[in-house]
Amino acid sequence: MDLVPSLSSILASVTSTMPTTTQAVSATNGALLQFAVTLSYAISAVFFVFGLKMLSSPKTARNGNRVAMLGMLIAIVVTLLRGGLEWPIIVAGLLVGGLVGGFAARRVAMTGMPELVALFNGSGGLASAMVASAEFWSAEDVLRVDTAVTVNLSVLIGMVTFTGSLIAFGKLRGMSIRGVRLSNPLVYPGQHVVNLVLLLAAAGLIYALGANPTANWAVILMLLLAMLLGVLLTIPIGGADMPVVVALLNSYSGLAACATGFVLENPGLIISGSLVGASGLILTQIMCKAMNRSMINVLAGGFGQEAAGPGSTASAEGLTVRQMDPEEAVMVLEAAQNVVVIPGYGMAVAQAQHAVAEMAELLGKKDVSVKYGIHPVAGRMPGHMNVLLAEANVPYEQLHDLDLNSEMEQTDVVIVVGANDVVNPDARDNPGSQIYGMPIFNVDKAKTVMVLKRSLNPGYAGIENPLFFLQNTVMLFGDAKATITGIVSELKSS
Ligand code: NDP
Repeated sequence: MDLVPSLSSILASVTSTMPTTTQAVSATNGALLQFAVTLSYAISAVFFVFGLKMLSSPKTARNGNRVAMLGMLIAIVVTLLRGGLEWPIIVAGLLVGGLVGGFAARRVAMTGMPELVALFNGSGGLASAMVASAEFWSAEDVLRVDTAVTVNLSVLIGMVTFTGSLIAFGKLRGMSIRGVRLSNPLVYPGQHVVNLVLLLAAAGLIYALGANPTANWAVILMLLLAMLLGVLLTIPIGGADMPVVVALLNSYSGLAACATGFVLENPGLIISGSLVGASGLILTQIMCKAMNRSMINVLAGGFGQEAAGPGSTASAEGLTVRQMDPEEAVMVLEAAQNVVVIPGYGMAVAQAQHAVAEMAELLGKKDVSVKYGIHPVAGRMPGHMNVLLAEANVPYEQLHDLDLNSEMEQTDVVIVVGANDVVNPDARDNPGSQIYGMPIFNVDKAKTVMVLKRSLNPGYAGIENPLFFLQNTVMLFGDAKATITGIVSELKSS
């Protein structure tokens, strides 16, 4: 009977497919390791979410940053410990990237933050596109269809973010190329059709790589097309709208990272990319809402051309403004019971935040109640004024938002420090105004309004401000820091 041999051959074939003890142990170790990695990514994701939540209040924002940084540290360490890495290259990258990033972040002035953020977004987009395409070219097997599609999606979003951010940087910096100022909207006939054709071509390349996951040409063409698209989508947008665009590009850089996360099957990258993508989009919407503009209106371009400069308030001719000097201003302030300070972009330019905080402290000592009104889009980036006032140690309890409007009529003095658009009554009263509908501080309803700026020139929106010509308004012309310093020394000597 050949029963025994057949049984033994069956046993042999079964045992040959069963793992040996060593194989079983290493499989268990592998599964444990995989579990630990996934758990660590989940923990870092929890840190990201809590960090983001804490960023929503000035009180907790600094710690929010620290919590999110810790989450990122965990994710980086776990990724490095997974192994299979070229350590010399990783260490060199960490050193170069860390030094450049650290140096740039230390050197940048608060007014230059949008440019720096634009560069950071661009680097994020470039990194995602490079990693995804490297994964494509280094793959030993033919990629799955879904991975191939995601590679080209990542290349598209990443490279659009990269070149779009470079143009945004140039516009924010006021750079020129061959005499053409980048900050002006660069428009040409048929622009939208060209962009649409390029977008359709990009969709075609994603399809082509999905249909043939070894098609090198589809990735190379996508790299070039996406770079061109990033430039063409950004050039028609005026330099003044760049902060909104930078927030949107920030969202794109997150989406690119998320797509690359799917290519690498890395949950940490997928989670952090989606969080950046979603929060960037929400921020963009908040900014558009606070400016009463639709996102389409911003992206279509043409708004925010350079202000005409001195003399642009020609239609204000014939109207008179009342002026004051710091000495007279102090007499009015000392007679007040409550004062509201509305800071704007000019405070950032003048770096007047410390002088403003000192003035408020001196007024407080004279029993004058001081509150700050922070408009959501005062300055040139979200939270601009909060950051400056936090730097000057202004107590958070004194910071208020547009709710202060309810007490404006009972306010004795409003001091407008380098703000313009956010206190322009035309936004409330004049349906023909470019900024009609944008919420403002109704400072014109206060008993006295002191406006600190250097001239009657317009602000960001490039439009006139009737506030300057009202009966209850007085202008204190000059650099805001110099004017406030004058008020501080008068307060000290009075
Ligand atoms: P504005 O840009 O409207 O006005 C700033 C004013 O500051 C100018 O009129 C300027 O007048 C004055 N100024 C400049 N330098 C000095 C100085 N050294 N001393 C004193 N005054 C100075 O600022 P707001 O903050 O009121 O409004 C912000 C605008 O930016 C809004 O229109 C908003 O929509 C827009 N924006 C904001 C973004 C954000 O995220 N915060 C993003 C994108 C746009 P002068 O030259 O006469 O001194």
